[in-house]
Amino acid sequence: MTTPILGQNLVAGEWLAHAADFASTNPANLAEVVGHFPSTNPSTVAQAVAAARQAFPTWRRMSRIHRADCFHRLGALIERDTDALATLMSRECGKILNECRAEVVEGLHMVQYVFGTGRMPIGDVIPSEIAEKDAFVRRKPRGVVGVITPWNFPFAVPLWMLGPSLLEGNTAVFKPSEETPAIGQRLVELFVEAGFPAGTINLVHGNGSVGEQLVQNADVNAILFTGSSAVGQRIQQISAGFTDRIVAAEMGGKNAVIVCDDADMKLAVPAAVLSAFKTTGQRCVSASRILVHKSVAAEFIQGFIDTVHRIRFGDPFDPTSFAGPLINRKAVEKTLMYNGLAKAESLDMIFESREFAPQPGCFVTPCVYAIRDNPNSRCLKEEVFGPHVAIVPFDDDEHAARIANATDYGLSLAVITESYRKMRFFREECEYGLGYVNLPCIGAEVHLPFGGVKKSGNGHPSAAGLVEAITHKYAWTVNHGTGIVMAQGMSAEVA
Ligand code: NAD
Repeated sequence: MTTPILGQNLVAGEWLAHAADFASTNPANLAEVVGHFPSTNPSTVAQAVAAARQAFPTWRRMSRIHRADCFHRLGALIERDTDALATLMSRECGKILNECRAEVVEGLHMVQYVFGTGRMPIGDVIPSEIAEKDAFVRRKPRGVVGVITPWNFPFAVPLWMLGPSLLEGNTAVFKPSEETPAIGQRLVELFVEAGFPAGTINLVHGNGSVGEQLVQNADVNAILFTGSSAVGQRIQQISAGFTDRIVAAEMGGKNAVIVCDDADMKLAVPAAVLSAFKTTGQRCVSASRILVHKSVAAEFIQGFIDTVHRIRFGDPFDPTSFAGPLINRKAVEKTLMYNGLAKAESLDMIFESREFAPQPGCFVTPCVYAIRDNPNSRCLKEEVFGPHVAIVPFDDDEHAARIANATDYGLSLAVITESYRKMRFFREECEYGLGYVNLPCIGAEVHLPFGGVKKSGNGHPSAAGLVEAITHKYAWTVNHGTGIVMAQGMSAEVA
């Protein structure tokens, strides 16, 4: 067994030794401790924000291209450590090794994107009604950003936020999830090794109360949050008290795959299985609703059952595992609670879920059930975040769009069809931020904006789209004439 990691906070370039308050454990084997971590006290959170504030003027005055160069070095370190990072992530959050590797690569892609963006144009040249006037839209960093992230993408999601923020000249205080502090700390160690100056990135460990101290700090100019809708709403409520603060919140989902009457089953079945069960259903974009046209429901369900029989949930390090455990015991209890509700409401319980335990872990088998459309069913409206999926037959495309929208969330949607008319109908009628055609409703690429609507996001997508949240635009106008001419024909006479 590997020696447990000793967790430390990073403030102003110094690693601080604190007493450990909580342990991070392996969800595939709860007896294995990954590391011991401090729960940061309020004065250290305040010091971390002050350190970021102090580092801000020097960092923002640096050439954007030189800031980007730091990301080039970071990328080389991530490439050097890809296997070790993937292994640590797998031990700490239970995702299968191949997926953890893909997540490290996604983080690397963000870093490469940021490095390349450093040399790309930023801002606009705007025409003026006055011939001698040049007008520009330029951007400035907001200042100190607080980055608060979930456990399920503990490497890529922090980089979606830290990457663009630091490139544009902001400095940061990062609070990783208390479920995955080791991988969060390892990421910050790589930033330090890449030569980011002291104070540009600071790390504070702890649970939600530590995150809330960061949110309560008036000197934080932007909160970049990814996590559950309940926490995102709380952060937005607190932040409403700070007039010039921006909150970018990416939150939960209740996503659907729509299998149309003309769907190619060779696409529909694997797309649905991947959407529902990859990452054990613990992606914000995971589908817990498969809407199937009634004319193809029997054929689809047969194919789906056959495939679910073949996939294995088990040891994340076993290459034959399709998915691993849930993150913790609370997640097991929550999933089993929703499975119980589904049993009471379903027409047919196709796969009844059960816990299994090669060692003390958090493993459950998939739950699959057929259910009639019912806008009041909690199983069809609420995020489960586990391997739990409803198959809902629909009558026609309008009915499918109504069911897809009958939730407070609006994150991802997949449509399986051969018809461009149907594709367009769902594109226009459904509420979502990430749309997929003839694909699973999961998967992201960093140069696309990543975000949702309704309770899934507040309009500031992550990754490439984040630039809007972490900079503010300003107008800059210059007169090249020898006299003053005002717009709209206003007189410039002064005497
Ligand atoms: P969570 O909301 O419980 O925690 C997320 C982070 O917020 C953690 O770091 C946590 O410590 C912190 N936090 C908790 N309470 C806080 C408070 N009052 N103030 C400030 N910070 C606080 O979410 P989780 O269980 O880690 O992750 C799963 C959730 O994240 C799911 O709902 C999933 O859909 C969502 N998610 C969304 C996206 C997206 O891009 N839309 C991506 C990944 C995960």
